[in-house]
Amino acid sequence: MIGKDTTLSDGEQQYLSDAIDTLENEILVGRLGSDHFEDLDNNEESRGDWAEYMRRMGEHDFLGIAIPESEDGPGGTFVETVLAEQSIGYAGTIVHACQASLTQHIGHTLYNHGNEHLREAYLEPMLDGELIVSQAYTEPSSGTDLARVDTTAEKVGDEWILDGQKRFIDFAKYGDLYFLPARTSGEDGDREGISLFVIDGDADGIQLVDDQSDWHGFRGTGAAWMTFDNVHVPEENIVGEEGSAWPYMTNELNLEHLTVARYCLGASQKALEVAADYTSNREVNERPISEYQGVNHKVAEMATKLDAAYLLNTRAARMLDEDGISAGRMEGAMAKWYGNDLAHEIADTCIQIMGGIATTDKYPIERTQRDVRAGRFLGGASEVMKSVVQHYAYKVLASDDFNSDYVGNELDEVPWSDEDPPSKLAPTDN
Ligand SMILES: Cc1cc2nc3c(=O)[nH]c(=O)nc-3n(C[C@H](O)[C@H](O)[C@H](O)COP(=O)(O)OP(=O)(O)OC[C@H]3O[C@@H](n4cnc5c(N)ncnc54)[C@H](O)[C@@H]3O)c2cc1C
Repeated sequence: MIGKDTTLSDGEQQYLSDAIDTLENEILVGRLGSDHFEDLDNNEESRGDWAEYMRRMGEHDFLGIAIPESEDGPGGTFVETVLAEQSIGYAGTIVHACQASLTQHIGHTLYNHGNEHLREAYLEPMLDGELIVSQAYTEPSSGTDLARVDTTAEKVGDEWILDGQKRFIDFAKYGDLYFLPARTSGEDGDREGISLFVIDGDADGIQLVDDQSDWHGFRGTGAAWMTFDNVHVPEENIVGEEGSAWPYMTNELNLEHLTVARYCLGASQKALEVAADYTSNREVNERPISEYQGVNHKVAEMATKLDAAYLLNTRAARMLDEDGISAGRMEGAMAKWYGNDLAHEIADTCIQIMGGIATTDKYPIERTQRDVRAGRFLGGASEVMKSVVQHYAYKVLASDDFNSDYVGNELDEVPWSDEDPPSKLAPTDN
């Protein structure tokens, strides 16, 4: 926040500043310091770095934050979860925040629906930072439209046999586990008949068939197109009820909407701070460019919108704390599209007011602009989020009592309709 955040308690304010402090001074240091950020952007990351990052994150309670202590989780809240994700985007990179985010929402699905085996074998070590996590949802035929999942799982004896492919998968190269949906019954596009599975990273039959890590931004995750060919999965690695994963996935996404928007906003706040410093110091025509209204009004607009986006996001997270992970569908969708579109707008505007230097690697601005770009469609495209908002917003805005008799016929009931129209509107002869 640029202004005071009156919606956070003192404890939450403290949590936020402690989180940034811990990240900057204890986690993203040494081999995980600023050189490492460049390594990630150059796709020169290593499995060891990601494992070390997770170890440190687990040690400092950044993983699965809202999982209760009874489950060996940090016992935090969803508001703390989004504050932590903001802090990681701010102090680290988007991909650091993404890996942590996977433990927040996948962790919650495992906590809510996982059997004892899944909790012991995967959730607990995940919270301790012993696993690198990969969420393999997207397929060539199933991106935004998740119900078109083509990957299948068939029960044979006491195993599931998986066949299919997933693309654009972050941490495909390093995943100790893959969390993925597959069709176990029903027809293409049915929401019924989809099941979620946890698959060990070293399971036979998994291949990375195309390296996709050299994309626009969001680099350093070892992203790839994966195929699953006759992969044997123990029967107990199914999450919850067979064929009933759709609500698990949409609830998980309800939290992911907030984390993705929040970490992109954290990164854009860092870009805005750099731009404010730069424009205060850079002189053009013997004046700091911050003195030009065309520049400083842009900063004013970014600061105002950033606060609005944080407030929207915190409100939705608080609804999850109050009413559970499925709460606040409209409010979460508002926070997602507005936050992600804004994060990109801020990074891009920072480039505009800094000029050419912002397009080099002297400042982390152009990396941020590339990194936050995908947030506008991953985890929920802005267009889809607006469709969710309008669905609920119409119910709030539109009233059954509205007199629709006039719609399209408004002239019928105006006071002068049976008489002569007012003189100004009277027809003329020519
Ligand atoms: C950097 C990056 C990281 C990623 N990481 C992962 C990952 O770790 N795991 C994973 O599973 N996937 C990942 N993805 C994939 C990502 O989730 C998908 O790209 C996203 O879900 C969109 O799917 P798609 O690309 O198939 O686009 P499509 O589904 O084909 O949609 C394309 C566009 O169509 C429009 N559109 C779609 N549906 C609607 C609608 N109903 N109304 C209006 N407009 C619509 C939107 O503008 C959308 O962006 C990643 C992608 C990127 C770029």
